[in-house]
Amino acid sequence: MTDRIRDFLRRHRPDGPCLVVDLDVVRSNYLAFERAMPDSKIFYAVKANPAPEILELLAELGSNFDCASVQEIDMALAAGASPERISFGNTIKKERDVAAAFTRGVSLFAVDCEAEVEKVARQAPGARVFCRILCDGDGAEWALSRKFGCEPDMAVGVLEHAHRQGLNAYGVSFHVGSQQKNPHAWDEALASAANIFRTLSDRGIELRMVNLGGGFATKYLEEIPGEGEYGQAINASIRSHFGNRIPETIIEPGRGMVGNAGVIKSEVILVSQKAKDDIRWVYLDIGKFNGLAETMDEAIRYPIQAVGREEDAVAPVVLAGPTCDSVDVMYEKKPYPLPISLEIGDELLIGGTGAYTTTYASVAFNGFPPLQSFVI
Ligand SMILES: *Cc1c(COP(=O)(O)O)cnc(C)c1O
Repeated sequence: MTDRIRDFLRRHRPDGPCLVVDLDVVRSNYLAFERAMPDSKIFYAVKANPAPEILELLAELGSNFDCASVQEIDMALAAGASPERISFGNTIKKERDVAAAFTRGVSLFAVDCEAEVEKVARQAPGARVFCRILCDGDGAEWALSRKFGCEPDMAVGVLEHAHRQGLNAYGVSFHVGSQQKNPHAWDEALASAANIFRTLSDRGIELRMVNLGGGFATKYLEEIPGEGEYGQAINASIRSHFGNRIPETIIEPGRGMVGNAGVIKSEVILVSQKAKDDIRWVYLDIGKFNGLAETMDEAIRYPIQAVGREEDAVAPVVLAGPTCDSVDVMYEKKPYPLPISLEIGDELLIGGTGAYTTTYASVAFNGFPPLQSFVI
């Protein structure tokens, strides 16, 4: 929560729930990544928050962009990024979208199987491709499971296939799981990547790049490692697995770039109980369908401040959203401590909400509009 956000909310008093993002925080996150990992290129994961002001600032600072669709590519281009600074990082692309990206000048693509290689080879001849390998996501609060990537053994074949198809077999990528609080989580995947590099080198194919993905944590309730700690651990792993043949590296921070730059302002609609002496239920004007989707399975636990009641005694509540869907409950298995004095109409500030909120909001479930966003 920055003074600029506090001042903005005081002066503008926006009606309804809204996200306010402070660009100064985004800038300082970008510079911290640059300092922590000076040898890596930064590709901002656009999906975390594609607000044009954020993309423009990052483009100006020299960032590259990890895009998952033609629409995101167009947003990055509109923000001033040239196509060489864009990676089409989704391993699941329609062939006509590969063609559309290539027409726009994008020449770096993610793949994780031979069928995807063939789409890229047909529509983007000569382009650079990197193969995503599976990563178990242990230790991450928002693990990415088995949806993307292939086993490292298979990646060798996928990249060889790309080479035979006339593509530039460029490297290996992985993602250690989002909100990954263990800076050593990159080590195992880097060992696999180094093996793939060696195996292919023996077959005459020299890979160049390791895409280290995202995963860098943002501060919610618990302490997290700083960018510097991630940088040190990752660089040590790179040196230990690649020796003196250090590859080019890129990082794709999403959450770590914008999470702590945003605050959601919300209002208490109702405080009630289901039975006398039972736990309180607190209903907000924001929930799973208009911005807080990452509370799914209570995965992400946001810091919440009850404005004007910071010193009051707290007791656990069940925290729920405003829609008529019973899954629209944020915290119930593990109730959330909020002031006993909390009343209808109180303002709550939900911190760490700069990433994965605005774009995770539904269009108009129950008629509630998508989350408003102000970038200052
Ligand atoms: C979502 C995503 C990211 C960003 O992940 P964070 O954990 O938010 O940093 C990076 N790379 C790829 C390929 C992604 O899909």
